[in-house]
Amino acid sequence: MKKNQLLVILTIIAVALIAIVFVLLNQEETTVDRGNHVSIEGQPTLGDRDAKVSVVEFGDYKCPSCKQWGESIYPQLKADYLDKEDVSFSYINVLFHGQESILASLASESVYEQDPESFWAFHKALYDAQPASQQHDDVWVTVEKLKEIASETTSVDLAQFEQDLGEESTVLENVSTDDGLVSENGVQFTPSIMINGVMLEDPFDYEQIQQLIEQDL
Ligand code: CA
Repeated sequence: MKKNQLLVILTIIAVALIAIVFVLLNQEETTVDRGNHVSIEGQPTLGDRDAKVSVVEFGDYKCPSCKQWGESIYPQLKADYLDKEDVSFSYINVLFHGQESILASLASESVYEQDPESFWAFHKALYDAQPASQQHDDVWVTVEKLKEIASETTSVDLAQFEQDLGEESTVLENVSTDDGLVSENGVQFTPSIMINGVMLEDPFDYEQIQQLIEQDL
């Protein structure tokens, strides 16, 4: 009898230990996933930088899908989460469309340096200025256009702004930081949306966006 009781107790202890190890291993896995957060230091960010959930868009002002994402998904995200605490939203430049992407990125970084409060107004106005998608290969990001948008939406020094679009730019480093983050995070297409280190397969899948946010809130 005593032997049997001992066996039962030992079995219970063994099962409990296995369960504990299982839970610990799973926790470790979760921690590893969450450790892959992209750094949002120096990036325009809506909300608290230390929010529990960080949503990051890798976007390109020349990309029609980014404009579409900004018009269809972003307003839902803002209404559901960004107006509350605990969720932040950051934007990182991607340079997939050549010279115009670089020019638009330099412009946005110059605005963010000079007048960070106006960044999101400039950002939206720049996407609004993107022509209908069938004409997106036409050149539309020009120094003149950028100056016009900056003068309408920000209070930047326009001479400094124009300098930042050229060879004497003071924000080139910010653009190359973004480019580095794009490579590091294996961004393949725009927009790419990352939520607490998890890259979405389909940035237009709002249900998955909600699911990823809710699970970390
Ligand atoms: Ca940036």
